[in-house]
Amino acid sequence: MAKTQIILSNRQSALKQLDRKLKKLNSDHSRKYFILTDENVLEHCMPTLICNVTELEEADFLELPSGEACKETEIVTEVWKSLIASEADRNAIIINLGGGSVSDVGGFVAATYKRGIDYINIPTTLTAMIDAAIGGKTAINLGGAKNQIGCFHNPIITCIEPAFLETLPANELRSGEYEIMKTLLLTGHEAWHSTNLSNYSELIPYCIDFKQSVLKADPEEHGIRKMLNFGHTIGHALEAYSLGQNKPMSHGEAVGIGMLYALYLSNKKLGLNSTFYKQYRSWLTKRIALPQLSLKEIEQLLELMHHDKKRSNDETLCVLLEAPGVPVIDVAVSDNEVRDTLLCAAKI
Ligand code: NAD
Repeated sequence: MAKTQIILSNRQSALKQLDRKLKKLNSDHSRKYFILTDENVLEHCMPTLICNVTELEEADFLELPSGEACKETEIVTEVWKSLIASEADRNAIIINLGGGSVSDVGGFVAATYKRGIDYINIPTTLTAMIDAAIGGKTAINLGGAKNQIGCFHNPIITCIEPAFLETLPANELRSGEYEIMKTLLLTGHEAWHSTNLSNYSELIPYCIDFKQSVLKADPEEHGIRKMLNFGHTIGHALEAYSLGQNKPMSHGEAVGIGMLYALYLSNKKLGLNSTFYKQYRSWLTKRIALPQLSLKEIEQLLELMHHDKKRSNDETLCVLLEAPGVPVIDVAVSDNEVRDTLLCAAKI
């Protein structure tokens, strides 16, 4: 897979650096740009983008529904049709301006349109800056289950401009902090004890460096890249379940609760010291009410987990921790162990 160039602000803003790169990349003006974005990002971020990246002044743009609602096959079909109507050829470049929802869909469209065209991610949420916009995983949802259809297709550039976070609602910022916490737990960084994770100027580059190092070792998730799914196995089921109930939980919140379950299982199965679980639980409950699930809901969640790609011999393969900084991938967890976790982890 082609590598992604990451642009971070240094003495010059990331957007200005992107402008210079695009002018060089498209010096003969032969490549058309198509910006995919959503309603909120169009209002809050598009003006800043166009003021700073003048190369995109003439770009076509398409507004998608905000959030998870854009990760649907019907939306992808609409985008394919718009690209064809605008005579986008194989040299066209898709620019995903938005959070992980936009980059997941836009990346998938880029991977499939005319057997694959280039795309650039300009993340506008914390989650996308440290995670979704890096690593080339693209996906859409199907039948109420998350990320069922997708492929690996790396963006040619990911441009991280933290100034976009200024308009991001507080709940979305908190959502991204769960992904920061995931990195801190996986790496054993001492900041995981901290209740305040808003030191973004240090934590964003730290999380990006970590993800880049994992991707270098395992770009297509045959081995250690799986560790990045810490908290996601049960988390994705919770997220999909909450969407189905019309009480949507953000991706970050679902992962935050998923990590609690993973730490509980880590204590039971790998002997992780229970103080870590308790400390994390105390951090989490200051931010979010833990779900108290009925037996019926637990069975429905298990059903959703059975759709998950991470299954083998009727057991779910989870990422657990022996200790902060010591992840273990592919730990087989039985349905009964999941039932016990969903019943007990939030109660202890
Ligand atoms: P999101 O893209 O769903 O956006 C959340 C909300 O914030 C939306 O309403 C959006 O319009 C708004 N918004 C975005 N940027 C804004 C800004 N700067 N100012 C004001 N409003 C803004 O949120 P997300 O958490 O970035 O993405 C979640 C999605 O990302 C999930 O579908 C998840 O599965 C996916 N994801 C993918 C990967 C991957 O590797 N591909 C990794 C993590 C998450």
